[in-house]
Amino acid sequence: MDITLSPSYDNHENVVFMDDAETGLQAIIAIHNTNLGPAVGGCRMFPYADKSEALEDVLRLSRGMTYKSALAGLPMGGGKAVIIGDPSHQKTPAMLSKMGQFIDSLNGQYISAEDSGTNVSDLKLMAQETEYVLGVNDQQEFGGDPSPLTAHGIFCGIQASLEHKFGRASLNGSRIAIQGAGAVGRSLAKKLIDAGAEVFVADINDHNIRAAQDLGAQAVAIDNIVSFDADVFAPCAMGAVINDVTITKLSAAIVAGGANNQLAVPQHGEMLRKRGVLYAPDFVINAGGIIEICRQYQNASVDDCYAQIEKIGSTLTQIFEQSSEQKVCTSLVAEQIAEQNFSHKAASKISSAA
Ligand code: NAD
Repeated sequence: MDITLSPSYDNHENVVFMDDAETGLQAIIAIHNTNLGPAVGGCRMFPYADKSEALEDVLRLSRGMTYKSALAGLPMGGGKAVIIGDPSHQKTPAMLSKMGQFIDSLNGQYISAEDSGTNVSDLKLMAQETEYVLGVNDQQEFGGDPSPLTAHGIFCGIQASLEHKFGRASLNGSRIAIQGAGAVGRSLAKKLIDAGAEVFVADINDHNIRAAQDLGAQAVAIDNIVSFDADVFAPCAMGAVINDVTITKLSAAIVAGGANNQLAVPQHGEMLRKRGVLYAPDFVINAGGIIEICRQYQNASVDDCYAQIEKIGSTLTQIFEQSSEQKVCTSLVAEQIAEQNFSHKAASKISSAA
């Protein structure tokens, strides 16, 4: 397979494949950029139709991690791993051990963590084979499931968005429509309700809807959540939710949520701007989890970790202001700032080697 032909290749530094007949492990690790530090990113398990689909996903996700870490000011690069298979019945301890060995073979160039389809127990099995796995210390105050701190960053980002759009950071009386009441969506709902917001949720999973209702959220039909009359639409389920169809239906003036890759194509960022919708770029607002993981790697205190996550609000304000001044969409402004951050480091690497 010639990976340079992939639309998502983007000069990845390294892409490694594993096909282990004994355990059934079929996996890919992609390392996009290590200018700022080792490539960090979760390990996703998903029933991809084939290796090409898995390759596209891992390349796209690892590139996203470079941008996310660079904007969060972390000394980390971008990488990601995918395991091809259905996590509900194809995951075995032997497969996860083999995955740990695969990660270890890269000698710390890539550091893994949790992602969809993997959990802390899976990471613990991998961590028996390698030191390059983070997010396994679920007994500590932080260092386990990153979702609560991801939600904390989104909460700060929603406050910054309300301040920029309406001149008020207070959530009291704000109406927030959350798509996806999973780990991040529910954690976010709780914070918003505690801060006085009215929260509406839609999910394909009734159990998760009931859990959100127990927190005080109101249920909305799945098909109505995008067009729901709210100040903020917070996508917390799947990617590509902002597309040609949904953009015309949006009634919220702000899109600010945790899902990765919310724009179906980059041009949707400009379409949102032209419609007067303020978009908090996903890779900026949902960085709380990766900040937590990085701070754990650096043995930082919990207070330091919260302080850095809370900077997501001021980073977004800077992006919003630049976007208004330059009349360029927020997603493009955010990408340009990230590129300056990680290319600048590359330039200083070259000059110190010279
Ligand atoms: P999760 O699996 O716990 O929750 C996702 C929820 O979305 C589930 O309840 C699912 O039923 C629901 N859902 C799926 N399709 C839906 C649809 N069409 N309409 C409505 N609901 C739907 O996942 P999570 O950890 O909460 O992550 C949510 C999103 O945030 C994902 O895109 C993930 O990549 C992203 N993210 C998560 C973290 C983290 O710390 N967990 C960090 C960064 C980004």
